[in-house]
Amino acid sequence: MSEPDFKRIVESAPDTIIVFGPDGRYKYVSPAIREATGGLLTPECLVGKHPREIIHNSSDLLRQMESAQTRARETGSDQVLSFDFETPIGTRHFQAVIRPERTCLGQVESFLSIVRDVSEMRRLQEELAAAKAKAEEQTEALKRSNRALERLYQEVEKRVGERTVDLETEIEERRRSEERLRESEELYRGLFESVSEAIFLVRQSDGQILMANETASTMYRYSREELLRLKNTDVSAEPHATKQATHHFRSYIPVRYHRKKDGMVFPVEITASEIEFQGETAHIIAIRDISERMHSEKKLQEGEERYRAVVEDLTEFVSRFTPDGIITFVNSALRRFYDTPTERILGRNLFDLLPPSVSEELRRQLAAATSERSMVSLTHPINSPSGEKRWQEWTNRALFDESGKIIEYQGVGRDITEQRYAQEALARREQEFRNLADNAPDPIVRYNRDVVRTYANAALSRALDTPLPELIGWNLACTPIPDAMRQAYEQAVRDVFDTGKERVFVLQLNPQKGSLHIQYRLTPECSEDGQVESVLAIGRDITDLLRLEQELRQAKETAESASRAKSTFLSNMSHEIRTPLNSIQSVIELLPSLDISGEVASYVRIAEQSASHLLRLINNLLDLSRIESGKTELARKPFEPRHLLQAILRPLAVTAGTKGLDLAVAVADDVPARLMGDELRLGQILMNLVGNAIKYTDTGRISISVKRDAACGREDGRIRLLFSVRDTGIGIHQDRREHLFEGFRHVLDLDRPSSESAGLGLQISTQLVEQMGGRIWVESELGQGSTFCFTVVLEVAEAGTCESKQPARAPQSTAPRPLRILLVEDNLINQMLTSEILRRRGHDVATASGGQEALDALACGRFDVVLMDVNMPGMDGIETTRHIREGRTGDPGVPIVAMTAFGLDEDRERFLQAGMNEHISKPFAMAELEKVLAGISSRARTAAS
Ligand code: ADP
Repeated sequence: MSEPDFKRIVESAPDTIIVFGPDGRYKYVSPAIREATGGLLTPECLVGKHPREIIHNSSDLLRQMESAQTRARETGSDQVLSFDFETPIGTRHFQAVIRPERTCLGQVESFLSIVRDVSEMRRLQEELAAAKAKAEEQTEALKRSNRALERLYQEVEKRVGERTVDLETEIEERRRSEERLRESEELYRGLFESVSEAIFLVRQSDGQILMANETASTMYRYSREELLRLKNTDVSAEPHATKQATHHFRSYIPVRYHRKKDGMVFPVEITASEIEFQGETAHIIAIRDISERMHSEKKLQEGEERYRAVVEDLTEFVSRFTPDGIITFVNSALRRFYDTPTERILGRNLFDLLPPSVSEELRRQLAAATSERSMVSLTHPINSPSGEKRWQEWTNRALFDESGKIIEYQGVGRDITEQRYAQEALARREQEFRNLADNAPDPIVRYNRDVVRTYANAALSRALDTPLPELIGWNLACTPIPDAMRQAYEQAVRDVFDTGKERVFVLQLNPQKGSLHIQYRLTPECSEDGQVESVLAIGRDITDLLRLEQELRQAKETAESASRAKSTFLSNMSHEIRTPLNSIQSVIELLPSLDISGEVASYVRIAEQSASHLLRLINNLLDLSRIESGKTELARKPFEPRHLLQAILRPLAVTAGTKGLDLAVAVADDVPARLMGDELRLGQILMNLVGNAIKYTDTGRISISVKRDAACGREDGRIRLLFSVRDTGIGIHQDRREHLFEGFRHVLDLDRPSSESAGLGLQISTQLVEQMGGRIWVESELGQGSTFCFTVVLEVAEAGTCESKQPARAPQSTAPRPLRILLVEDNLINQMLTSEILRRRGHDVATASGGQEALDALACGRFDVVLMDVNMPGMDGIETTRHIREGRTGDPGVPIVAMTAFGLDEDRERFLQAGMNEHISKPFAMAELEKVLAGISSRARTAAS
């Protein structure tokens, strides 16, 4: 290579090449220095110069250069030098390699320095170092962060682990809560459906029902679907109030009236709560049907009112007071007692109102009250406001609160003043009775259930001749009673204990001083519950009484047999008298036919009158004897009272007419047309009274009246009739009036026409009137006339039941047909006289003196009628009749008329039962017999036609 080539290369080199001469001066400097120093240094300004001229001596660079050159010289090896150099384009970093240039002799004559601008490299290096440092730092940081990350990772891992567990728990929790939610939802739904209250979910804005439970459907009788179409006002009976309540929420409404689908309105109680539902305000409304409750509340209220009314109306006192005695309630009875209005008594202290000693006792008693023994009773005196001492009995009951503390007392009291006085009086009376019993002349004993005496009085002690201590507390073992009787007596006492019924027992005692009969009345003494506690025996010494009774019984038996003898005697006597009287009457009957006249005829009339009077007397005696012996039984048949009067009075009117007396009858309208009773006996009474009136009246009139007794109404279809018979006759003296109806008293009345007066008529009338449930009396003034009155009780007969006899018919115009008569009579005189009389009346008479004879006669001939005496020796009339009726002889249907001196009713029955058709008593009036025969004759005629 040539020098220019070489030079071109060096000059185009980027590094600055400097060649230092052996003097140290710049020998060569490549142009690159210009660029490298920003134009500061140029080869021109350097070449030939010493660095010292360029670089200050003090400069490090100079020293570094010189020392590097020195070392290069010494070592002969390249020395590297780095330095900074300030240039117009800033501090530049240069690196210079100083290489010694040796001569062929090996001497260092110059130095080649290649200076390279390493600013960029240095920057790069610095950057690299910085980057490296940074990288390291980053590495370190990375490591740190790695470690942190590691820790973080671990932490995260731990956290993740924990979190996983939490998450699982959370999931489980959520699952459970979902489960719970579901369950609770089911529960709520179940509740919603099953509660007894109707539940509605109602939208507040318009009251629309959004939900309703089953109870609501049942309660309102709408289906669920129907309900969901309704608003709450639709089920309300007060829609206006409901609407208001919907807008102004109220959580509780005590009473409101709702309406069911069928229109029925019922009371309800409403509780409500407000909720958000699907973004809107809604009310959950629970509705309870309170009809029942209101009903029972009403009942309760009524009950309470009743209770209050009862308490107010009680005659007992009722009060309430606090434990301090402050009165909080008094009822009207207590107000009345204190004679104070309520406000004056409420708030006062009870203990101040009571007498101090009573207050103290009450406090003491109340202090002892416990919840087990909450009632305390106290009887005490108290002065009434008027100062009167009264006794009250109080029962106070403590009222406790829940903690068992006494909150109040309630007292119920009553005024027992009267009761207390009565008890005191009772105690006094008891003492008196005890004194009485102790001193009673009759034995008094009390037995217990073992028949042991618990009480005995002095009379028993005396009767048994035993001191009282030996009687009381002892049974009857040592009492002197025959064994059998003691057992019976003890049994009687036990019977009273068992049955509770009183018994009478006659006890025979045999004390030493003699036999006693004591009649004990054994009376049960019962406790309040009805149990027989003891038996009280009150005895009476009836020893004397028994003796008297015995005597009386004997006397009575004697009297009764005497009475029976009297009746029999009367009956027999009347029969005996009747028989001859029959003869006498028959004779008298026959006498007129002997054509007598003048004086004889008048004697005959007297005899006839006497005979009929005698007959009446006998009939009356017999009647009275029958009535007195109780043998008369009254008939009970229907009759017409007006007809009866007519029938009775017609014949009497004739008699009255003969004396010139008026006979007037007045029957009041209120007298029934038909009555039921004994017409004949009533007629007998009237006949007697009217007969007497006619008999004892010479001028004036006889008035008969009948009316209803004003003093008596119509009971059980029965009425009382008042009959009166007034005359203007002689009157009756007061002395006689008193005994007029007693009978036999005036038999010996000498002032009277003795032949006419036996005094039996009124006595019979009296007996009959009394038997008919009435009474008879007379009002009379001597010389002024008399009024006989009597009453009878009769039944009112139903219409159409009357069998009253028609007034006696006028005698038949046609004469009776002559009959063929068989007269059966054992008394020959009577037989002879009767048959003669009958014959004289045109009859054909056959006679028989006994039964058999009669049967024989009947066997031989035909008779229209048999007149049969009953009392006959041998076969009597009854037996004979039976034979005839049995068809043993003759016509079994022949009429048979009994003729007997016994006129008793039961006899008549007996005759008719035996088959006889009629009965007439002997002595008979011919007219009576004629009547019977006429009847038979007409029946025979009717049968024949
Ligand atoms: P009798 O008329 O048969 O004597 P009563 O018993 O019928 O018996 O009468 C008793 C007595 O009462 C009569 O005797 C007569 O003295 C008196 N007596 C009865 N009725 C009247 C009368 N209407 N007027 C006056 N005295 C009478």
